[in-house]
Amino acid sequence: MINLLSDTVTKPTPGMLRAMMAAEVGDDVFREDPTVNALEVKCAGLFGHEAGLFCPSGTMTNQIALKVHTRPLDEVICDEMSHIFQYEVGGYAFNSGIGVNLIRTPYGILSADLVEAAVRPPYDWLPRSTLVVIENTCNKGGGGAYSLETIREIHAVCLKKGLALHLDGARIFNALVAKGGKPADIGAEVDSISICLSKGLGAPVGSVLVGSRAFIAEARRVRKAMGGGMRQAGYLAAAGIYALDNHVERLLEDHTQARRLADTLAELSWVENIRPVETNIVIFDLKPPTTPAVFLDYLTKHGVKASAFGPQTIRMVTHLDVSSDMIGQAIAVLRAYSA
Ligand SMILES: *Cc1c(COP(=O)(O)O)cnc(C)c1O
Repeated sequence: MINLLSDTVTKPTPGMLRAMMAAEVGDDVFREDPTVNALEVKCAGLFGHEAGLFCPSGTMTNQIALKVHTRPLDEVICDEMSHIFQYEVGGYAFNSGIGVNLIRTPYGILSADLVEAAVRPPYDWLPRSTLVVIENTCNKGGGGAYSLETIREIHAVCLKKGLALHLDGARIFNALVAKGGKPADIGAEVDSISICLSKGLGAPVGSVLVGSRAFIAEARRVRKAMGGGMRQAGYLAAAGIYALDNHVERLLEDHTQARRLADTLAELSWVENIRPVETNIVIFDLKPPTTPAVFLDYLTKHGVKASAFGPQTIRMVTHLDVSSDMIGQAIAVLRAYSA
């Protein structure tokens, strides 16, 4: 199977498994796991922040960030396509008692003007706008990345209006590899970042939240309340450290493979509206009468897995476990399809 369902489907490489087996561990709830501590310090340092917190998932790091940055009856300003709105079960309401103020954009990339226009005036009867979330890269938007300039402009609006800025950086290294630039440059513009180790970086489990010392101290309490305090989690953290050391630069390869898929799709008559491909995600629509059910069935029969991403929409994601040869095979399968 050529599995293009998601970049979460990767399995640990032999080198990663060796690093996990060799990990020194302890009880992380007592902060005695040296490998978890090292991962947290490493991530915080990379982005120029003071502290980090290792969590079981990116949903948890985002949800903790929402909780710590807001109070009930506040609202978070974010894109309609954002993961915190679309794919976290409405957790913003459940965990934090807050609302969402949604901005609609073509590919999930906000601008300072849109954010500024969304901030509410301080009337008693309005939700209080206290937080902005940007997603870089934006999954549902097709994996597009922010320019540093746009992030700076959004940050300036947040400072002017007194709002916090959280970065859902599930694929922040894809964004950095695509746009160039240093992690610390983006880190300097946001109050907190959620970094997924289990997406393109290829670790089996885990995300890290980074921010100020005070923010992470509070986040640690919320993690425990959510049941996310883990014990000998160093085995998992070791995979994250290995991924950061070995799997960042190679993301460019995933981007190249996604580009090949997109270039092929652009030539096929039954495909329309391919979202701009900048990183490892390819999203496109099927021209009626082709439906995702029929198309995905065809793909499965020919050894390729992809996912339905809307009534006419398909998503394919490239990653560590799909080689250039496998993409060549997938391309042949796509070319052989006739609507
Ligand atoms: C995958 C993802 C998350 C959450 O990650 P999980 O580890 O699956 O909970 C958050 N934000 C974005 C943009 C994602 O793609």
